[in-house]
Amino acid sequence: MTNRITHIIKQAGIVGAGGAGFPAYVKLEAHVNTITANGSECEPLLASDRYVMIQQANWIMKGLKVAMQATGAKEAIIGVKAHYKEAVAALSAALPQDKSIRLHLLGNYYPAGDEFLLVYDVTGKVIPEGGLPLDVNVVVCNVTTLMQIAHAMDGKPVTERAVTLAGEFQSPKVVVVPIGTTYKDLINIAGGFTRNDVVLIDGGPMMGKIVDDWNTGMAKTTSGVLALPKDHFIVRMMTKTLSQMVKLSKAACCQCFRCTDLCPRNLIGHHLFPHMTMRTIDYNNAEMTDHITSAFLCSQCGVCELIGCDFMLLSPRQIYAAYRKELVKKGIKNPHRRTDCKVSSQFENRKIAIPMLLKKLDLEKYDIDIPFAGKQEVTNVRIALNRHVGKPAVATVRPGQTVRTCDVIASTPEDQLGTVYHASIDGTVVDISGDRVEIAR
Ligand code: SF4
Ligand code: SF4
Repeated sequence: MTNRITHIIKQAGIVGAGGAGFPAYVKLEAHVNTITANGSECEPLLASDRYVMIQQANWIMKGLKVAMQATGAKEAIIGVKAHYKEAVAALSAALPQDKSIRLHLLGNYYPAGDEFLLVYDVTGKVIPEGGLPLDVNVVVCNVTTLMQIAHAMDGKPVTERAVTLAGEFQSPKVVVVPIGTTYKDLINIAGGFTRNDVVLIDGGPMMGKIVDDWNTGMAKTTSGVLALPKDHFIVRMMTKTLSQMVKLSKAACCQCFRCTDLCPRNLIGHHLFPHMTMRTIDYNNAEMTDHITSAFLCSQCGVCELIGCDFMLLSPRQIYAAYRKELVKKGIKNPHRRTDCKVSSQFENRKIAIPMLLKKLDLEKYDIDIPFAGKQEVTNVRIALNRHVGKPAVATVRPGQTVRTCDVIASTPEDQLGTVYHASIDGTVVDISGDRVEIAR
């Protein structure tokens, strides 16, 4: 049965919709006690998962039942923020009679959706350094992913998703659009910008990435698109180069520890000390290898940079990202595997409250009651075949071919980690270039 379920999920092209893009079938091949549904909507300003929970609560429950069946889990717990009142009400009403699924109400803090923090919050278990939820008998799935799993069992692959359009748009909203909808079309759907000097971010303000080419298409992992002024603090931090950052940290890091004090992974007892890593680069002290290889423990949540070091504008996060890339290139594996992680007594006090974060990051004005505008049609999609964890998918269609929504257009070779892509609109394949298939109606 497990094989049949994971085969369907694989063929439906489901990857972690929360942003990670990890193929869902791989997670569900495990045997665990608990499935945790991630309904935390980790990033501030985004509201896509909230709408999915309000409008698709029954499908989320169905998806959870499928995930439980695949993994043999005896229970499922949905982590949802307590102040998402409508979502909590919709989920509560959809809970099955058999009590196998329950809700766990989360506080309004960042990063509540980090798997390590979510699992600790929901189950009280700490995932070891360099570990996975699986190490504590848990599988975590995002609520949108669970809805997609339920749809897959009904024969519907991933061809669309909810996306939040927030920030400097004329008409911020949550919409459901075909996968591969171009950022240009998303701008039009949101009524254009409120100003000219705007930068687009795919994702949220904390972990999103700047979109360089607005003619490309959004991915299965695109939960939101944020428009911010070019000179916004967050954009300025995102556009700093590594060499600027290294120079700055050598000149300005005062070793105040704030980055370490607030680091969520440090707070759950992992040996990650960003201030020590900064000291390592400041003094070119290659002996301190632990503080370099600890880059493998960093979640890239951005707390150290955007909250901890908001006065010096340094970025341990960026330094860790660069170190990690270098270590992987050299074939060095994560040596940090401590299992005796002791949660800090300051864990609760140092959670980053979202209202404080919004104020500090000058995002308050974008924190509005964002409306749900339903499905939007587009006439053209550009589907990237590499925006998931694993090997890129290879196109199985040719230019000029007619396709219907849900037809397979690309897949990763069977023996490699990856996923399947489907046509997200009816139309003709007009271009296949690089890792992208373009379809026009
Ligand atoms: S918060 Fe900034 S200045 Fe303080 S130790 Fe960390 S990087 Fe250095
Ligand atoms: S980005 Fe910074 S705060 Fe977040 S886990 Fe990494 S070091 Fe810690």
